[in-house]
Amino acid sequence: MASPLVERLRLLRQQLPPAVQLLAVSKGQPAAQIRELYGEGQRSFGENRLQEAQAKQAELQDLPDLDWHFIGRIQANKVRPLLACFSTFHGVDGAALAERISRIALEGGHGPRLYAQVKLLPDPTKTGFDPQELRRLWPQLRTLPALNWLGVMVMPPFGLEAQLLTALFEQACQLGTELGLPGRSMGMSGDWPLAVASGSTLVRIGGGLFGQAQNPDKIPATCD
Ligand SMILES: *Cc1c(COP(=O)(O)O)cnc(C)c1O
Repeated sequence: MASPLVERLRLLRQQLPPAVQLLAVSKGQPAAQIRELYGEGQRSFGENRLQEAQAKQAELQDLPDLDWHFIGRIQANKVRPLLACFSTFHGVDGAALAERISRIALEGGHGPRLYAQVKLLPDPTKTGFDPQELRRLWPQLRTLPALNWLGVMVMPPFGLEAQLLTALFEQACQLGTELGLPGRSMGMSGDWPLAVASGSTLVRIGGGLFGQAQNPDKIPATCD
């Protein structure tokens, strides 16, 4: 009998259109869970902490074709080690960072795939390109050496209602089209059906795939 984890993977695959890529967000999950999904053919995994990812990559060295995506905030002083560990970056949120990634990737012989994270609504908890700024800078950004731009990534503010979410996803798609990029990294456990209906090409799913967090004691207690 399949484990609950494998059951959830199969169900998600049945629900997702075949053209939409599933990124299994494995942050906070042990390597054994990644190995189990690998056994089912899942290859793309998302992490948001360098050290945690390095530890899992060391444990999973025998799996040759894992595809690691970095979905966290990219710190300028970590770009070099991040490039060594990850093929794809979903949180490229500014021009100076893109230039830095380009320079270090060129030196190191890397060819990272990038999503430009865009901020379409004010949200103090998230970073991202202002859409106007991205349009303005795009002629320079697109020609930076060693970078493979795939598309746009969006993380909506928490608690948006469905109509606003849909509008936001559609705006992200529109911006991607203007930039001439086909990739749309949109949709998480709580909102992926709306994101897919709006044109997502890659959903980033953590809780909805892995179930509850592995270390409930590490989740900050809520205040009453
Ligand atoms: C954690 C995270 C996800 C996955 O969120 P879930 O709600 O657990 O599916 C997706 N994208 C980013 C950038 C994340 O940090």
